[in-house]
Amino acid sequence: MSNHQSLFGNTLSDLQTFCKTHGLPSFNARQICEWLYKKQVSSVDEMTNLSLKTRELLKEHYDMGISEPVNVQISSDGTKKYLFKTQKNGAIEAVYMPSSERHTLCISCQMGCKMGCEFCATGKQGFQHNLTAGEILNQLRSIPESTLMTNIVYMGMGEPFDNLDEVLKSLEILTSDWGYAWSPRRINVSTIGLIPEMERFINESECHLAISLHSPFDYERQKFMPIQNKYPISSVIKALKKYDWSGQRRLSFEYIMFDGINDKHAHLDELTKLLKGLFCRVNLIKYHSHPKSDFQPSSEERMIEFRDYLNEHGIICTIRQSRGEDIMAACGLLSTMEKK
Ligand code: SF4
Repeated sequence: MSNHQSLFGNTLSDLQTFCKTHGLPSFNARQICEWLYKKQVSSVDEMTNLSLKTRELLKEHYDMGISEPVNVQISSDGTKKYLFKTQKNGAIEAVYMPSSERHTLCISCQMGCKMGCEFCATGKQGFQHNLTAGEILNQLRSIPESTLMTNIVYMGMGEPFDNLDEVLKSLEILTSDWGYAWSPRRINVSTIGLIPEMERFINESECHLAISLHSPFDYERQKFMPIQNKYPISSVIKALKKYDWSGQRRLSFEYIMFDGINDKHAHLDELTKLLKGLFCRVNLIKYHSHPKSDFQPSSEERMIEFRDYLNEHGIICTIRQSRGEDIMAACGLLSTMEKK
């Protein structure tokens, strides 16, 4: 493994600094971005409008930082789960979900996760390391369906706001005119509610925000999400209420339904009270059992009752269609400890 930094994953201002430090014309920075993010070349030698000196300097200081997936599993519903090696010799997964209206990629931002949510396979594998912005974006750049993609969700392995600098950098590259020039409305970032980082994200990005809620009761959420001890969900909601969510930017809450645990009538009442006055939607998610968890999924009828009740009480609510369950690609099932 080389000790060089990756070129892919640098922002325009990173490259302007590089050019300045090495006495190169500053317009080279924009040209490099163009090659990296628009023309998507795989080597510095393909950057033909740069001088030989510039190309040599780039090769001296950087690796390209692009790597193909090392494995793919294909579900009977068309979902594909890609496995990538990381620069620190780890492994992460990205999940591609095609449908008739959209092509969505669910990407990872850490190998493993520190947050330890009781129901989650990634949480059970512990934390290995953060991904760089380049490694986050390589999951989009290096899969065969890359150019088809219409939506990206940061809902794979890891807690995005526990690696916020690199996540924000990846979002800057995705949404800037010198980068991929995506609309922030096509990107959704999910968190379990790290309040200071969440507020920084709200202020510094325009992408959609999804909060993992899973129980409206502080005492119950504490049992399966340790973060509740530091940032109670009631405080997360209070912080969110300081912002205006009635525009195009979407705020949603993810609610995984566990049979006999968080799917009772009392939860509906409390959810309605908690979310009152907040412009948002709720996505109900079917739980997917895995060998390291004792939880079971709520029945489909219960999920429908939940959805209908919330809709009748003024909260837009949908049931998220389950994808890739047969290849362990569904929500909460990503784990790479055995795959390195
Ligand atoms: Fe981490 Fe998200 Fe899993 Fe919780 S649910 S352990 S935050 S990956």
